[in-house]
Amino acid sequence: MLNVDVAANLLAVRDNLPSGVRLVAVSKFHPAEYIEAAYAAGQRVFGESHEQELSKKQELLPKDIEWHFIGHLQTNKVKYIAPYISMIDAVDSLKLLKEINKQAAKHGRVIKVLLELHIAEEATKYGFTLDACREMLAEGEWREMTNVKICGLMMMASNVDNEAQIRKEFNIAASFFDEVKEKYFSNDDSFCERSWGMSDDYKIAVECCSTMVRIGTFIFGPRVY
Ligand SMILES: *Cc1c(COP(=O)(O)O)cnc(C)c1O
Repeated sequence: MLNVDVAANLLAVRDNLPSGVRLVAVSKFHPAEYIEAAYAAGQRVFGESHEQELSKKQELLPKDIEWHFIGHLQTNKVKYIAPYISMIDAVDSLKLLKEINKQAAKHGRVIKVLLELHIAEEATKYGFTLDACREMLAEGEWREMTNVKICGLMMMASNVDNEAQIRKEFNIAASFFDEVKEKYFSNDDSFCERSWGMSDDYKIAVECCSTMVRIGTFIFGPRVY
């Protein structure tokens, strides 16, 4: 028995999500049993942020799980996850995008990715500044990368209690999505994801146009590092 009721927590989250908002269950640092409990409750999309931990779990767990890599990914780790990863949610450099494209090609795959934006005020967060993202898209090299599919944007709000600030950051991301969608992806239906919202702020995020929330603690309990 787990000391967390994963199925009940999942149900509670799902009840709070409008239809059309996808849930990535963030299972990092939780043992495989937690994922199995969520899987038994119907969850198929899971997020991990460490390559070795993910690779172990991927080997062990059902093959119809869609794994998202949600953390900062070092370019030298891409080759290990390229054979199976469903989406890489936090692409924060052109260099990483190129490496994903290269490794995906080796496996005859097209890997879905999100571009990570740095909007939060914390200095520690990864991601493109809005201007760096604009520059990267304008420069256009991504257009030739046929083995990656840019499906949208991802960001984390500042880790603060100030709801107004969190809301402001989500709204900045939402309007930036509209800008980029119109300029580069207006004819591309797969550019549709706005991935923001975690355990503490996902209800605000869905009010600010999120289409994909990444929730760990609320479902699986606190992580033991
Ligand atoms: C850990 C993590 C989450 C989940 O955070 P919780 O607060 O546990 O819901 C979401 N997104 C990213 C990028 C993470 O690293």
